[in-house]
Amino acid sequence: MKGSGRIEMAQRLQALPPYLFAELDRRKTALRAKGVDLIDLGVGDPDLPTPQRIVERMRSAILDPSSHRYPSYEGLREFRVAVSLWYERRFGVMLDPEDEVLALIGSKEGIAHIPLAFINPGAYSLVPSPGYPVYHAGTIFAGGQSFFLPLKEEQGFLPDLRQVPVEVADAAALLFINYPNNPTAAVADKDFFLEVVEFARRHCLIVCHDAAYSEISFDGYTSPSFLEVDGAREVGIEFHSLSKTYNMTGWRLGFVVGNREILAGLGKAKTNIDSGVFQAIQWAGIEALEGDQSDVEEMRAVYQRRRDVMVRGLRAVGLEVNPPKATFYLWVTVPPSYGSVSFASRVLDEAGVVLTPGSGFGEAGEGYVRLALTVPEARLEEAAQRLQSISL
Ligand SMILES: *Cc1c(COP(=O)(O)O)cnc(C)c1O
Repeated sequence: MKGSGRIEMAQRLQALPPYLFAELDRRKTALRAKGVDLIDLGVGDPDLPTPQRIVERMRSAILDPSSHRYPSYEGLREFRVAVSLWYERRFGVMLDPEDEVLALIGSKEGIAHIPLAFINPGAYSLVPSPGYPVYHAGTIFAGGQSFFLPLKEEQGFLPDLRQVPVEVADAAALLFINYPNNPTAAVADKDFFLEVVEFARRHCLIVCHDAAYSEISFDGYTSPSFLEVDGAREVGIEFHSLSKTYNMTGWRLGFVVGNREILAGLGKAKTNIDSGVFQAIQWAGIEALEGDQSDVEEMRAVYQRRRDVMVRGLRAVGLEVNPPKATFYLWVTVPPSYGSVSFASRVLDEAGVVLTPGSGFGEAGEGYVRLALTVPEARLEEAAQRLQSISL
């Protein structure tokens, strides 16, 4: 606003990638206004409700006046203990609740803030492309720059770390990885995590593994924790979210675990920005992690059925897609002669089905669209039928 008489945003906001879908959004709004019944497979926000046991725990916690005060920065001791016990049960990984667990206001909050603790001006984050946009945005806000690691189908959507120039790797402070992956729905095994540890050691960088979809998996597959592999705790941390596992996106509760010095850095940044998570929500989170997990099992079954319906539907119109082992996304190659955006707009206009163009997740997402299986099965059947009615 200096001198120009106009309100001007800071350079860090101007440095964010341009928003590519304004035109698509306009058309969506116009179609809705015309009364078109859109089927929205665009947003990764679970349609299923938070399990009743968790809502009930919140109800009792909110009546307790001790919940109403400022929470502790690092999270309730009871919440951190619940996280460490869950980690032990789920992954066989032991964590000290004292300093190897930190509560987050949703994992997005921690992911956005970690660069503030470790990125000096001009330093690199290594960021997957396509990828969750917050890795790059957080890096820019901290004054750093992203070096993008393309995730290619022929490599199972795992980054090829050998392709990172040595001078970039040496100048990088953070490496972001995310498995099961949004948007590609790919999974990683422990051999890949071992490669990551080796790479991080060689170049002295911090690994941030985003495990938001660790509990959403199918056909008997279970996702490993990055912390299960030797040496991981020396180089990295792992972000988790209750959002996807327990249909709690609106509640804002996540956590991060792993290397205590890295967590101390993030904690220091956070104490200067936020004041922790509402305690009643943390008590609900304890119930989520410690109560009967059969609701999680049912949720997996729901997504698995939806996955199968949509994969069948896509194949019927000639779109080849491998049924993913995890996440509630399908990552689909657009037909030849289309780009991500042109395909999504065709499907929007002619079938009233909303997809996310892959290019919104980074340049390497061009040529794909993402479908979120966050609508009921019957609507997916309907979406598949509508796709068949247009010639692609
Ligand atoms: C949904 C999502 C998150 C963030 O979840 P929160 O609601 O902030 O806990 C983090 N990473 C990925 C890849 C996601 O898709």
